[in-house]
Amino acid sequence: MTNNIYFIANWKMYGSTSILNSLNKLINLSKLKKYHKAKIIYFPPFTLIKDLKKKFIKSKISVGGQNCHHIEDYGSFTGSISPKMLKDLGCKYVILGHSENRTAGENDYDINKKILSALNKNLKVVFCIGETLKEKRKKLTYSVLKKQINQGLKNVKNYRKILIAYEPVWSIGTGVIPKSEELEMNLKKIIKLISKRTKFKLPILYGGSVNNKNINSLKNIGCINGFLVGSASLSSKKFIDIIKKTIN
Ligand code: PEP
Repeated sequence: MTNNIYFIANWKMYGSTSILNSLNKLINLSKLKKYHKAKIIYFPPFTLIKDLKKKFIKSKISVGGQNCHHIEDYGSFTGSISPKMLKDLGCKYVILGHSENRTAGENDYDINKKILSALNKNLKVVFCIGETLKEKRKKLTYSVLKKQINQGLKNVKNYRKILIAYEPVWSIGTGVIPKSEELEMNLKKIIKLISKRTKFKLPILYGGSVNNKNINSLKNIGCINGFLVGSASLSSKKFIDIIKKTIN
């Protein structure tokens, strides 16, 4: 792997202020020259964004939101948070299209509207795509990825602000990761689909049950520019281990 390697921590609906002190070692690690190419981004629940921003103030670790509304600024949308609000909190990134939100009802059209609004507010977007087990069994992976990419990225002009996270739904939270050949094949398909839309080479990340044990096999897959880590990122010890094993 060359250039930047992304390490994304998605805390989902976990975490409280008591977790903050456990991040000190990670902050120290991020300052070591050896790890400068590690782009570490935390996506805590909205309630902890401000605390994490403060915690990371003297480091290069960034913070993002786990989702946002498609209305850019303000509106009567109870329980929602807008791209502007994320920006005001100091977020640089937002995750959009996560399968847990797709399962809860978000479709490609909704995700596209959110992506366009987030980009308008100058947020970088971690755009999640991936097939379900049923789709994989029916050999629909390629058509699913194609649809998600083409509809999700419709009318996008600034590809420099997009990162793709390939997350097979059957791998998220299950402890199961794809076979290396299968993963590489799907990543190459994604790269090809993206290359039809832009000449810019987007960072392509893998997500799904990444941990400090399976990282050794995942890090050798050629076209991966980083990892989106869910449950293992709640332990900063495991997350540090993932970073150290990737950049050794
Ligand atoms: C995720 O939250 O997108 C994810 C990949 O979770 P986990 O690492 O727990 O599978």
